[in-house]
Amino acid sequence: MIPYGKQAISQQDIDSVIKVLKSDFLTQGPQVPLFEKKIKSATQANHAIAVNSATSALHLACLALGLSQGDVIWTTPISFVATANCALYCGADVDFVDIDPSTYNLSASELEKKLSYAQQHNLPLPTIVIPVHLCGQPCDMEKIHALSKTYGFSIIEDASHAIGGKYQGKPIGNCEYSDITVFSFHPVKIITTAEGGVATTNTIKLAQKMALLRSHGITRDDDFMTEPSHGAWYYQQIELGFNYRMTEIQAALGVSQLTRLAEFVDDRNRLAKRYDDILGDLPIILPKQIKDSYSARHLYIIKLKLAETKLTHKQIFDTLRVKKIGVNLHYIPIHIQPYYQALGFRAGQFPIAEEYYEQAISIPLFHKMTDEQQETVVQALKDVLL
Ligand SMILES: *Cc1c(COP(=O)(O)O)cnc(C)c1O
Repeated sequence: MIPYGKQAISQQDIDSVIKVLKSDFLTQGPQVPLFEKKIKSATQANHAIAVNSATSALHLACLALGLSQGDVIWTTPISFVATANCALYCGADVDFVDIDPSTYNLSASELEKKLSYAQQHNLPLPTIVIPVHLCGQPCDMEKIHALSKTYGFSIIEDASHAIGGKYQGKPIGNCEYSDITVFSFHPVKIITTAEGGVATTNTIKLAQKMALLRSHGITRDDDFMTEPSHGAWYYQQIELGFNYRMTEIQAALGVSQLTRLAEFVDDRNRLAKRYDDILGDLPIILPKQIKDSYSARHLYIIKLKLAETKLTHKQIFDTLRVKKIGVNLHYIPIHIQPYYQALGFRAGQFPIAEEYYEQAISIPLFHKMTDEQQETVVQALKDVLL
């Protein structure tokens, strides 16, 4: 099976992990701060808080922005469920904004319409909007940011797919148009720490809050204590936090992987461009790239022109799998998940996302995919579609 995505582990990665295993610290040592420093320079953000997953980073980001019961976040239905779940962890509600039909990202114009409608009809406005840079392609952040000023919401960028990409020539994660940006380092993503994530921000208060909540709400910093320290052993728990810490093993892997970030992203772009060139004649819609963006190309999603194919979406998907092409589908619209249906969402509410779901297929794309593997994928698609 040619997988839809996979990690690229080098000898240097292996050596850096082994070095940590032989060192004094498996957790809470020097590697996590080093990884955070490297993330700051890669993203040009002022602060970076490394955690054990992007899901944890999303949770901490919501808490740092004060999300609680009675609040609501708005996000896209076309994302991994974690993007929406983080609001529910905080006791807040979730609502969705339909996607842009050409980029499949949260539509900034739909957002504008929904905000204006909510305001006119006295419906709840969002406390936080979470745009997701699907496949690594940035959302229309400039417009979403402008809307946040008019309607007073905060912004968390879910950039789980997007490290190494650029928006308006600047690195995604610099938080120019958001309060916090979150990245994932799950093995299928652009770089990996096995499990892991990070939140970047330019606001020191948000960084401090996320750092505190990452480790039980415990501080050893006199400035945050309610009384003078009792001694060198002393710490205070001042909030209810979690254990969301990244290990030294993960951070060392991350530091090593980051040295090849540009290579990973360039290679993904080269492969994507090659797909663009050789898939042109098939009854499919190729992923459209907007101006002002350099996508990290986490996924290569094609949409079937079903009026021009003999087989159904499912038949095409299944045939590709039989041909050992590890196709996948990103994503099942979150609002049609049973858990979200039980919260009151219904099929039909976000028609563009649902139509997308009936046509989309992610085809294999990963660093070090060979030209031969890519040709095997293209030939399989031709066999199925022509
Ligand atoms: C992978 C992913 C997450 C969750 O990341 P984890 O590190 O696995 O917790 C969240 N949002 C999106 C869009 C993702 O792709």
